[in-house]
Amino acid sequence: MISFYPGPSKVYDRIPQYVKDAYQQGILSINHRSEAFMALYGQTVSLLKEKLSIPQEYTVFFTSSATECWEIIAQSVVDDSSYHFYNGAFGEKWFKYTNNLNPLAIGYRFDKNLKLKTGELDLSANPGMICITQNETSNGTQVDNKQIEKLRLKYPDHLIAVDATSSMAGILLEIKNADIWYASVQKCFGMPAGLGVMICSPKAIEHAIQVNERKHYNSLAFMIDMVGKHQTTYTPNIMGIYLLMRIMESVKPIQEIHEKTLGRYQSYMKLLDKYSLAHLIDSHDVRSYTVIPVQGTPAFVSKIKEEAKKRSIILGNGYGEYKETTFRIANFPAIKNSEIQTLKTFLREFCTTGSA
Ligand SMILES: *Cc1c(COP(=O)(O)O)cnc(C)c1O
Repeated sequence: MISFYPGPSKVYDRIPQYVKDAYQQGILSINHRSEAFMALYGQTVSLLKEKLSIPQEYTVFFTSSATECWEIIAQSVVDDSSYHFYNGAFGEKWFKYTNNLNPLAIGYRFDKNLKLKTGELDLSANPGMICITQNETSNGTQVDNKQIEKLRLKYPDHLIAVDATSSMAGILLEIKNADIWYASVQKCFGMPAGLGVMICSPKAIEHAIQVNERKHYNSLAFMIDMVGKHQTTYTPNIMGIYLLMRIMESVKPIQEIHEKTLGRYQSYMKLLDKYSLAHLIDSHDVRSYTVIPVQGTPAFVSKIKEEAKKRSIILGNGYGEYKETTFRIANFPAIKNSEIQTLKTFLREFCTTGSA
């Protein structure tokens, strides 16, 4: 089976070997307070910084998921309002989780076919955190680096937090333009689920120290206490961190991965056009490079998924309100060219004959 599901997604083929290595090297049983673990943590962080072009002054934390990052940010960093700009299900969920913990959270829904605009709104006089979902996995849209940079320039004193769960390690992100970035590894990192990565600017750290919220096992103030020694507040997913280190050792720098992702995206767009497959999003300007939602009638969508399955191809289900009327194609780096060719051949045949 070849999975094009956008999370959990296809893992790198070398994962089984790395798991074996972890077992043989005794990594699976190391203590999370040991020198060996601290060295593993340090090495993983420096590889992440090198391969993903993360500025040295940013701090990298490990969590269990992106969802946990929503909660950590809401409980430990937000001390005033938070402004959630979203156009889809994940951004909305982040807003709702935050709102449960902090009634001052404000959500602004924007049109999924339009670029994120914050122009009509002036937050300058209102302190707080601006929250953006860089890659909206549910509808296949993205907020690009330029737009995030504009926000940074317009609001130099606000904290900006970015959910990059389905794009980090797949496209180039200008980390310096925001204060908190996070992702979980079962998407573009090509790894099994159960690990999240959260990256914080010095300003975010300073703010969390000032807020000093210490009511939870994953209070960021506790995590900051531990991160200096390359430790975590609870026994973390050590195997996940090891796999992440091995993956980061082996991947190309993000600039190269970005080019590959973009090239594959463009070639998918050509194919969609040629065979009159409808992208859920009309505007090319806001389409995600890593998640491609294709729209159709419920009958078409269930038929194409069913026929794909017969060819050992798993297409991603639609998400939320688009469950019945879209299928999604993950354009993640762990997918091989030959696998993409297999999918394209299938799509061509399906679209010309009505079945494969
Ligand atoms: C998948 C996803 C999440 C949730 O990730 P978990 O690992 O399940 O917590 C959050 N945000 C976005 C944009 C996602 O794609």
